[in-house]
Amino acid sequence: MRTGIATVCLSGTLKEKMQACAIAGFDGIEIFEQDLVTSPLSPEDVRKMAADLGLGLDLYQPFRDFDGVTPDLLKANLRRAEAKFKLMARLGMDTILVCSNVATATIDDDGVRAEQLAQLANLAGDHGVKVAYEALAWGKYVNDYEHAYRLVEMVDHPNLGTCLDSFHILSRDWDTAPIENINADKIFFVQVADAPKLSMDVLSWSRHYRVFPGEGQFELAKFMGHVVRAGYTGPVSLEVFNDVFRQSDVERTAVDAMRSLIWLEEQSAKWLAGTDAGSDAGSPAAARRRYPMELATLPKVNEPAGFNFAEVKADDTARLEKLLGQLGFQFEGRHRTKDVQLWTMGQARVIINEQAAQHAEPAIAALGFDVDSPVIASARAQQLKAPVVARKVQADEEVFQGISAPDSTEIFLCQGSPDGTAAWTHEFGEGLEHPSAGARAVIDHVNLAQPWQHFDEAVLFYTSALALEPQPFAEVPSPSGLVRSQVMQTSDAAVRLVLNLAPIQRARNEARKTYQEHIAFAVADLVATARAARERGLEFLQIPANYYEDLDARFDLEPGFLATLQELNLLFDRDADGEFLHFYTATVGSVFFEMVERRGRYDGYGAPNAPVRHAVQYDSLHRTSQTAKH
Ligand code: MG
Ligand code: MG
Repeated sequence: MRTGIATVCLSGTLKEKMQACAIAGFDGIEIFEQDLVTSPLSPEDVRKMAADLGLGLDLYQPFRDFDGVTPDLLKANLRRAEAKFKLMARLGMDTILVCSNVATATIDDDGVRAEQLAQLANLAGDHGVKVAYEALAWGKYVNDYEHAYRLVEMVDHPNLGTCLDSFHILSRDWDTAPIENINADKIFFVQVADAPKLSMDVLSWSRHYRVFPGEGQFELAKFMGHVVRAGYTGPVSLEVFNDVFRQSDVERTAVDAMRSLIWLEEQSAKWLAGTDAGSDAGSPAAARRRYPMELATLPKVNEPAGFNFAEVKADDTARLEKLLGQLGFQFEGRHRTKDVQLWTMGQARVIINEQAAQHAEPAIAALGFDVDSPVIASARAQQLKAPVVARKVQADEEVFQGISAPDSTEIFLCQGSPDGTAAWTHEFGEGLEHPSAGARAVIDHVNLAQPWQHFDEAVLFYTSALALEPQPFAEVPSPSGLVRSQVMQTSDAAVRLVLNLAPIQRARNEARKTYQEHIAFAVADLVATARAARERGLEFLQIPANYYEDLDARFDLEPGFLATLQELNLLFDRDADGEFLHFYTATVGSVFFEMVERRGRYDGYGAPNAPVRHAVQYDSLHRTSQTAKH
């Protein structure tokens, strides 16, 4: 698959954009006209630079408001087009995007439109240019890709074809299956963008909220599958207008973009394999053989089987040690060669890492996931351009395959074992043979705050590299704003990762985590766990009495049970599937812990309680009068 990206997706100058695209590994780019008009580079400079960088200049865009106009306007439009064709010759480019008319069309007649497009195609032919005609979702008369293609067929000129743009097609909910009926020779270009499902006017949706494939909710693998079945072999190019991407680091966004295409390519091959009919259908390899477009695949991984460990980095570890001890964790010892401690409760493992912590407040630094094959999972992540994390190991120690997540959390791909143990624990203390006795516990979920400019990137990262599935996102009210919350999980929910959008004022200092994050552990008996923790002196997050009154009103709880919840600062939720009990500890540095008990098939996170948690934490963080009273 030939990969491309429109310069409009990225921040910076044209030169910076082109360099970033080359570094990220794109085959070609679309020159967005404004990027050229505002550039000090001459067309010849751009042409040379692209050649030096090994970037194809695949599409010049956009040329607007051409068709369906009065004869006077047509004359002016042809003159305007010829100027662009001449410019393209200087750039060494041969394909231009012409979008369906939005503003100046006054004649709604396919015969007139075809006649005018034929004149454009003739002129383009004189200049060796190919015109890719695209139906904009909000085009005045032409807003449907099949309509645009009908016009192309009517004109029947070698210099006129169509451009298929997933946003314009999927935002209107057009059926994508008929793409297969389009003559591949007439598909001059394909653009892809994803988007969250929003109900708003389609123009604003398009201009501000497009995201890279895998970061939204469009069925792009299916769209691409139909394009591949049509026989198309040209560029597949990202055209994403997004307010955040346009102000983020250009090289980083280009890598995020490239990752989305690599992932989409794999997903498209999978979709084809799953829907191809015939005896040799069903494998990506068969799909690759069947169609002219070459589709690369990635090392195949299954979703992770569980969390292997969570790691907190801290300079001063005393408060963390105290907190874990009070929760009922057992200190298993120090690593034999590193400044690292291991704490366990059942199969929940927490590492306290004192190395290179440099006066840092405690913060979640790393997560380990159980995978079938760490080497294959790591190869996949690296092909998806995840930065590798190196860890010093001695000869006889387990080598962890690590990658860096967009928020700089280190992700380790660990060898899972059927009994939930981890071989590396032998490197601690006297040689730990078994998980400590005591409470049955596992890591239930981990909640990571994401800087606003990396949120979408994080969703794609965990989807593509770790095979987690994004769930519909929620918005949780907090005193410092609405917190966007996105659950990423495995199908069996053995791994649950909750990504929260860090409130802006907390994300200012990106180098250090200053926003709160937590690790939640599931136990079998939360009330007993809470009582034992209280006896050990645990400082609970104090839940307001108002909460329990509301709880009673909503659930009509048995009075003794309600009193127990209130006495222990426990939160409660119930839905059709079961019940959820949980409590939070006070925060140390940027970390706090949560203990949960899932009853029945309860699958959530106590969402109705999240605003209470946010408010109480906000309160204690700001040392308001209520906290001072205690
Ligand atoms: Mg487009
Ligand atoms: Mg939680």
